[in-house]
Formats: sequence, structure tokens, C-alpha cells
Amino acid sequence: MKGEPLTETKEARKIVRRRPPRFDLIAGNVCLDFVNTLDDRHIKPKELLESYVDLVRFGEDAGLLDSRQVDRLYERSRAHPEQAQEVLIWGRELREAIHDVFWAIMNKRPVPPAALARLNADVQTAAGHMRLVAVKGGGFEWSYDDQGEFDSVLWPIARAAADLLASDQLQYARACFSKTCEWFFLDTSKNHQRRWCDMTRCGNRAKVQRFYARQKEGNS
Ligand SMILES: [Zn+2]
Repeated sequence: MKGEPLTETKEARKIVRRRPPRFDLIAGNVCLDFVNTLDDRHIKPKELLESYVDLVRFGEDAGLLDSRQVDRLYERSRAHPEQAQEVLIWGRELREAIHDVFWAIMNKRPVPPAALARLNADVQTAAGHMRLVAVKGGGFEWSYDDQGEFDSVLWPIARAAADLLASDQLQYARACFSKTCEWFFLDTSKNHQRRWCDMTRCGNRAKVQRFYARQKEGNS
């Protein structure tokens, strides 16, 4: 959000990255990647956002925060652990609200009003921090007036969810076909026939299972 086209920004962040990425960002949209931070949701949920630092790491991995913002949030969270913890819990609630809204849409169910209200609250908070910034060479872009607030990492996530919900891409939001996975992703494939969150993660596993099932049938 700092003036350069996204690709250049990402490139620059690659160079300054000091830590290897921790999160498996396969969804193609940051709000769906965020939903996937509760792993194995339908079997034995595993929380990947155990601490506020995890939330910052997610923001870093997803390119939502630059290294300066990451450092500032780390420092502030050490100085104010209770506030940081509150935002972590708030963030998890936002994540579950985003999940519930998208899950309802994918399953053609009514969207739970409480989940939509929860998402809207964060969308409005994010909007309250948005501002136009003049870009060198002319024109403007949206930016956030980030003063190092703990919840600044949540603003672009809420905004991404709102943008996706209000877009014609919404119909391509999917859950992985693997019943033991069900990670969310945006199917941007040409034919929109993608079934798996990731071919190496779930697609291959399913293929192998089908292969053995066929072999078994063949043998019996
Ligand atoms: Zn999967």
C-alpha cells in the first residue's frame, strides 16, 4: 500500500524478508488464507494463530505488513501484551465470521447475520483508517493511516473479504474437496474446475487413494 505497483512491492519485500515464511498461502486471496489459519477445522482444529506474534507473522507472510511495521508491532506487543492478546482474540473472531459468511455462500445457506455484522464492524474500522495518498508522477492510491495500531493487520483482511464478497469473483470461492482439509481458496483456474486447495497437499493424496481403490477393486 505504499505507492509501488503490487508486484514491485512484493519483490522489495522478498529482499528485506528476514524470516522464512511460516504460513501456507495457497488461497489466492488473503481473506481466505486467513480462514485457513484454523487448520483441520472440521476434524481436530489446530490453531495456527496461537499468539499475537503469529498474527503479525501472517501479515508479514501475506505481504500486508512491511518489515518496519512488523518490527513496530513486535516491540509494541512486548510492551503491551494484554492489548495485543485482545486483538489476537478479536482477529480470530473476525476469521470465524469470514469463514461463516463464505461457508454459507458456498453451501447455498443463508448468511448468518451475526457473522456479517461482525465482518462489517471490521470493514468500517478499516474504512476509517483509509485515506488517499498522492502518488509520485500523478494520480492517487488508497493507503492506511497506520500509527502502529495492533489491529492494523486486520484492516486489509476485512477489506479483502468485503471486496471479494462484493465482486463477481465470489462465485469462485471454494472449499477443498478433501473432507479432511476443506481449506478455502479462490478458483482462478481457466475452467473454474479446481477441486483441491493445492495439488501437492490434497490433490495428489486423493489421486493416490483413488489409485489404490481401483487396484483393490481390480484384485477382488
Ligand atoms: Zn485441501
